[in-house]
Amino acid sequence: MLFTIPLYTQSEYIYILGNTQDAGVPHIGCNHKFCLDNFNTLDKYFVTSIAVVNSDLKKYILFEATPDITHQLNYLKVNIFKEFLLPDALYITHAHIGHYTGLMYFGREALGSNNLLVKVLPKMSNFLKTNGPWSQLLAINNIQIQNTSFGISNKELTNISVTPIQVPHRDEYSETAGYIIKGKNKKALFIPDIDKWEKWDKNLIELVDNFDYLLLDSTFYDSKEINRDINEIPHPLVTETMTLLDSLSLEAKNKVYFIHMNHTNPMLDPDSELSKLVKSKGYNIARLGQKLYL
Ligand SMILES: [Zn+2]
Ligand SMILES: [Zn+2]
Repeated sequence: MLFTIPLYTQSEYIYILGNTQDAGVPHIGCNHKFCLDNFNTLDKYFVTSIAVVNSDLKKYILFEATPDITHQLNYLKVNIFKEFLLPDALYITHAHIGHYTGLMYFGREALGSNNLLVKVLPKMSNFLKTNGPWSQLLAINNIQIQNTSFGISNKELTNISVTPIQVPHRDEYSETAGYIIKGKNKKALFIPDIDKWEKWDKNLIELVDNFDYLLLDSTFYDSKEINRDINEIPHPLVTETMTLLDSLSLEAKNKVYFIHMNHTNPMLDPDSELSKLVKSKGYNIARLGQKLYL
């Protein structure tokens, strides 16, 4: 009988460190059962972040500095490195609270890190340099900033290249980046926040063709789940994304990992009917601790 043994000897992989929208779970002031049930759980739901780990080198790079970063770096320590390690580089997508405010924990009142390398686009860079408390991180060398550019790749770890690409989003303080993360064998796309697929100059179906993993904004499952004007906070609804990708094969749908879920999105709960429905259509939902080999 012929069969192939999966070889998990690859040392570089994406490690999911969180899958919620910026404000996390439990959500401030929320009384729905899912949030109430999670007020006393410390390591179940963190704000969206991923690490790219090289287990041979005992090194990693980090995407996003979330308000949960204290727990997320501890999660890496406990589950991967067995010691507290800072990333070789930290990439940030944009200046909304879930994506960069964790930087404060590198400052004088907290870790007091030394020249931690933060790689951001020019507008984000300028925002950090010209606004406190972020500017103090630079003034006293807790962090150093290296500017990146859309479409220009950065070499990381052993075989990793990271390329920022521009995505349409509410750009009040910074531009918004998505990231192409290319490893030795596989290629991932990380788009935690985007307004709408049709506002982008890229075709999602073609992207699914070109990537092995697509970590995609799934803030809301459908338009019924929040009581605010959804036009003020546009995101591709998961129902819209699934309609757009409906004609694809099961194998293609399997490349999609929904991430960045609002506390109201039932897909956050692995046992919910909606989680089961989305999975039954062939899609994946990003969960804390998942490894995606590159
Ligand atoms: Zn966000
Ligand atoms: Zn809630």
